[in-house]
Amino acid sequence: MSFLKSTDPAIYHAVNSEYQRQRSTINLIASENYSSAAVLEAQGSPLTNKYAEGYPGRRYYGGCENVDAIETIAIERGKELFRSEHINVQPHSGAQANMAAYFSLLKYGDRVMGMALSHGGHLTHGAGFNFSGKFYEFIHYGLNPRTERIDYVELERMAREFQPVLIVTGSSAYPRLIDFERFRFIADSVNAKLVVDIAHIAGLVAAGVHPSPVPYADIVTSTTHKTLRGPRGGFVLCRKELARKVDSAVFPMIQGGPLVHVITAKAVCFKEALEPSFVEYQEKVVANAALLADELKAHGLRIISGGTDNHLILVDLNETGVTGRQAEDALGSSGIVINRNAVPFDTTHPPSIAGGIRLGTPAITSRGFGEGEVKEIARLIAAVIFNINDDEIKQEAREIVGQMCPRFPVPGID
Ligand SMILES: *Cc1c(COP(=O)(O)O)cnc(C)c1O
Repeated sequence: MSFLKSTDPAIYHAVNSEYQRQRSTINLIASENYSSAAVLEAQGSPLTNKYAEGYPGRRYYGGCENVDAIETIAIERGKELFRSEHINVQPHSGAQANMAAYFSLLKYGDRVMGMALSHGGHLTHGAGFNFSGKFYEFIHYGLNPRTERIDYVELERMAREFQPVLIVTGSSAYPRLIDFERFRFIADSVNAKLVVDIAHIAGLVAAGVHPSPVPYADIVTSTTHKTLRGPRGGFVLCRKELARKVDSAVFPMIQGGPLVHVITAKAVCFKEALEPSFVEYQEKVVANAALLADELKAHGLRIISGGTDNHLILVDLNETGVTGRQAEDALGSSGIVINRNAVPFDTTHPPSIAGGIRLGTPAITSRGFGEGEVKEIARLIAAVIFNINDDEIKQEAREIVGQMCPRFPVPGID
């Protein structure tokens, strides 16, 4: 950062402080990760200077020969990685990928079924204050209260009664495998389309450690910056027949010029994800999450659904008397960064307070944390939560975190 330092000290200072924060804290936010130096370099390149409305070979600007080469490589790699007939790599984010999916398949006012926000669905799955909830008539399915897993029987009953045009699945806080084949079967039984949003699990799907929805869904949407470990962005997968609809939904219906520097970084990310080491990485992410869940249980915390199959864990704090917000703050002052999260069937806490916390292992696994560190982190989390007002315990945890972090360089920074 030699340029910012001299030209813009205020921003230099803040960015530098963020480097330090990322180095010196343990990041258990399930939707975050550390992208590689190559991804950062691509994203920070002069490709940001280029306008390229349109698609490779069909642009509305001159000088697009290099951009065309880059986007074509991104497309080819993305198709190979997800074994998909078509990919659009231009969505600026996961939310815009979902908007493109809806615009491709729905008319204003159509009926859609999505997973309830409080059971792990996303804002773009029909929340009233999101465009999805305003444009379409959504009803929400959720988990079985006993198993805390998706209630497929109830889902099927609701689908028959509601007759949706589209069913959307995928989640920000569901720790179990999703049965895409069963979703397809239910969608077919009512003649509905199926969109699967793999924003969180894209890396697991790419590596084959979570079943792929590509054979079952009409459209698959995703981010690139969560388990996939790429730049902040989105993409859409579909079969050939829907390619034109999806492409015209992204541009010109939703977006103008694509973020070409981010597409460059997506191409780099897809290459990294095609390496055998990426499969090993995702296997470790899942193993670390399973171990973290087991350890937290052993320390007396209640885990939603009793464990995890993927990269994330949802902890129900209702029995502890501590709110999600208190836990987030206390762990934050201990150097452990997490987010509070609603837990299913909890009617006592508003989302701003929340009755639980969500933990994920993608970022710590990118950093090389293994069994020993995960066990130690579980111990610290339980100690802080069960002694929520004890500043000495937080201080001790902060010191242990401070000793642990320098042993694990942050990819892309160190
Ligand atoms: C994160 C997420 C998104 C949205 O991604 P943004 O890039 O933040 O817009 C969409 N769907 C799900 C399930 C997510 O977890």
